[in-house]
Amino acid sequence: MILEIRDVGRKTPGDGRLEITEATFRRLSMEQELRATVDDVKASALLERMPCTCRAGEGKAHAHWFVRSDAFRHLVPGETCVLELTSPGRLTAARPHPLAP
Ligand SMILES: [Zn+2]
Repeated sequence: MILEIRDVGRKTPGDGRLEITEATFRRLSMEQELRATVDDVKASALLERMPCTCRAGEGKAHAHWFVRSDAFRHLVPGETCVLELTSPGRLTAARPHPLAP
C-alpha cells in the first residue's frame, strides 16, 4: 500500500524525520509496531507530531507530522521517495522505480 510520494527534506539525513501528512500519521497510528527499511538498512520507526510556528505571522497554529527512523538517514535530500506500507508495521522508503525501456 503506497502511503505517500514526496521529496526528501534537507534535514532528513540529519534527524531521520520524514514529513508525512496527517492522514498518513493517522493510518500509521493503527499499527502495533513500526519498522522502516531503506535499501538494506532496517530500523525501528516512530511517529512524531510537532507543534509549529512557521506560519506564526498568519496567526495559524498548526502541527507537522513525521515518521522518524534511523533508516531514513540514508535517504537523499531532494530525491523523490515512495513511502509504502508493505505488511503490517513494515514501512519502506525507496526511489520510484524507473520506467522500463
Ligand atoms: Zn509549520
